[in-house]
Amino acid sequence: MKIRFRPHHFLCTLGFQGKGYTPQYVEKYREIVESLRDDLDIEVVGEGDSICAFCPHLGETGCAQETKVQGIDERHRQILGIKTGDVLTWAEAKRLLKDKMTLDAFHKACEGCEWKAQGMCESALKKQANE
Ligand code: SF4
Repeated sequence: MKIRFRPHHFLCTLGFQGKGYTPQYVEKYREIVESLRDDLDIEVVGEGDSICAFCPHLGETGCAQETKVQGIDERHRQILGIKTGDVLTWAEAKRLLKDKMTLDAFHKACEGCEWKAQGMCESALKKQANE
């Protein structure tokens, strides 16, 4: 099964530290993270993706936070230079994050995200910048 990510989930995944909305969501998210290989193809989507599939916020009509999330996705899309339908490997995605998601860009892109203040994504970006 091909992995599908909405734009902001590339950074969420880089920063994943086993936290999430419910234990089942975390378990499934961990499975996705553990399946990632540098040459694995990931399709960029503009709606519920492989991670949303296990989220308690996903309902019949999509994400309960869709309006806010669309804004976050759009900023990530612009910063990373990706669009719906693109397919990139996990290595390419990490390269884009390293090259384009500066800390300044991150603070703009993820404004309004409830996870931002917890620092996982910021520390993942800092770690990646030093590799
Ligand atoms: S909150 Fe929305 S965008 Fe985030 S994982 Fe859940 S369904 Fe997907």
